[in-house]
Amino acid sequence: MPHCNKKMISFFLTTKCNLCCRYCYNAKERNKIEEKTIPLEIAKAGIDWYFNNCESRHIRFYGPGEPTQEFEKIKEITNYAKLNKNGGDRVTVEIQTNGVFNENVRDWALENINIMWMSFDGMPDIQNYNRPLNPKYKELFGGKTSAEVLENNVKWLIENKGERNLMVGARVTITDKNVYKQIEMVDYFYNLGIRYVWTNPLFYSVGEIPVCEDNLKKDSYNFDMEAYVNEYIKAYKYAKEKGLFWGSFYTINFDGESPYHCRSCTPLSAPHITTDGYISACDMALLGEKPYHMEAFIVGKWNSKTKKFDLYDEKIKTLNNRKSTEIEHCKKCPVKLHCGGFCLGETVNETGKLDGQNITKCIATRKLYRELGPCEPYKYLHP
Ligand code: SF4
Ligand code: SF4
Ligand code: SF4
Repeated sequence: MPHCNKKMISFFLTTKCNLCCRYCYNAKERNKIEEKTIPLEIAKAGIDWYFNNCESRHIRFYGPGEPTQEFEKIKEITNYAKLNKNGGDRVTVEIQTNGVFNENVRDWALENINIMWMSFDGMPDIQNYNRPLNPKYKELFGGKTSAEVLENNVKWLIENKGERNLMVGARVTITDKNVYKQIEMVDYFYNLGIRYVWTNPLFYSVGEIPVCEDNLKKDSYNFDMEAYVNEYIKAYKYAKEKGLFWGSFYTINFDGESPYHCRSCTPLSAPHITTDGYISACDMALLGEKPYHMEAFIVGKWNSKTKKFDLYDEKIKTLNNRKSTEIEHCKKCPVKLHCGGFCLGETVNETGKLDGQNITKCIATRKLYRELGPCEPYKYLHP
């Protein structure tokens, strides 16, 4: 099923975070503004609007910080969706979390969450290096490291889930620290009880200007894509034999055909409500008020007078028209229907254009498709 079929309403819950990841994709952006959390009125209006207009009853919690930092709001939004006259038993709940949360969150998650993607970079030495706990929060977790808290939560949830409809998977950022450790990571996750993993090569953080204009950012980026692809293929095959799914962000459309890369081209079927009351089309455009060069993704805004969302029709149309069958460099590409012109968020962040191209990523996608694709529908789509 191509990734654009992932239909859901996402809530960008809060800018607060309890980790200090080295590669945080939005740390500078978040740190510049006052801490912000989604207003409940807007989240609830988002549910009413989405359930009235779309068939899906899937709700999702995501950044820009760590959603469980606003645990009460997660509970209230989930309860509101479940009690909604259009919601009820059909509501399913997904979260992407850093997994560093306390027992209250864990107990509630066990009973209420259906898909939990843990942002998790593998063995403790790598996890603690890439994703250390913010020193301000150390005491709250009894001096434990992020790896200790996360491992403990993952094991507990998997051991206790029983027959509940809950999947605990890992979403791994691949950096130069773990690119050659993908097979080792398969064993590590397998032993923790995890059976679904999506890997994402390190991507550029979002700042005020596109990466193509930011020499400092370009110069500090270091990632060996060829090594990633070669090691990924080995790990994918090894994992498959063990009964573990080892996915790549570059293969998210290998299980179907579509000229679209993902939900960001059809934002009304998968809106993201931002902490400042806007509708975003993409996980990388997290703040609506000042999206800078990611403006193309801000497609609506909460109107506090009419108590409705105003939609920006022209921008929605432009995203709808972003198809690999129309983009000049994609038209003749052999994988155009299994790539969809690649991730718009990364493309716009890097090139400043919806139809920009990163040839290194194209070469990687084509090689992965030659070696592995196409495939059976994925059971759990990439977050
Ligand atoms: S957990 Fe997410 S938001 Fe928090 S520092 Fe890490 S990457 Fe950034
Ligand atoms: S980050 Fe990429 S894959 Fe994710 S929603 Fe944005 S465009 Fe789609
Ligand atoms: S691999 Fe490159 S050229 Fe081919 S569809 Fe994807 S973005 Fe376009």
